[in-house]
Amino acid sequence: MNLFRRPFFTFALSAFLAAPFAASAQSPAAHVHGQVRLDIVIDGPTIVIAMESPLDNFVGFERAPRTDAEKKTAEDAIAQLRAGAQLFKIDPAANCKLGPVTLRSSALGLGKNEEGAGEGHADLDGSFAFNCTNTAAAKFIDIDLFNAFKGPRQIEAQIAAPQGQFKRTLKRPATRLAWNK
Ligand SMILES: [Zn+2]
Repeated sequence: MNLFRRPFFTFALSAFLAAPFAASAQSPAAHVHGQVRLDIVIDGPTIVIAMESPLDNFVGFERAPRTDAEKKTAEDAIAQLRAGAQLFKIDPAANCKLGPVTLRSSALGLGKNEEGAGEGHADLDGSFAFNCTNTAAAKFIDIDLFNAFKGPRQIEAQIAAPQGQFKRTLKRPATRLAWNK
């Protein structure tokens, strides 16, 4: 696909990227090894964390696993991500419980149509929904991705909270994503 050679698409993409706070999940530029993008939406009683990441960050390769060792690596990574409450520890003041977790990675046979991966690359994207009794009290999320996985070095986060919209960058080894301070 030569989407980038088409002037209209380039224009549309530029406009899209220039729009404040709008470079969300669909940006093809999102696939940067070592970088994880999180879109966090706090709305009513729920906190939803949408994650977009190169598959490399979690398993060290970007294709279907070939060896038993690679299969085990993939299975372990999937299990860790499914246990999302260990990776995303929301401010206890909000009193949240993990709800549905959805993972997408066609290379690993999970769902389909993950976005952001270019040719020769693959993503592992996910959505982690939490149900909370006091979302308004949430002021931070402790993110354990740097401890759980070797690949991620930087997290780019956007937070849409009742208090406003925030952008935050976390660099290894920092873990606390805080806003509303
Ligand atoms: Zn890649």
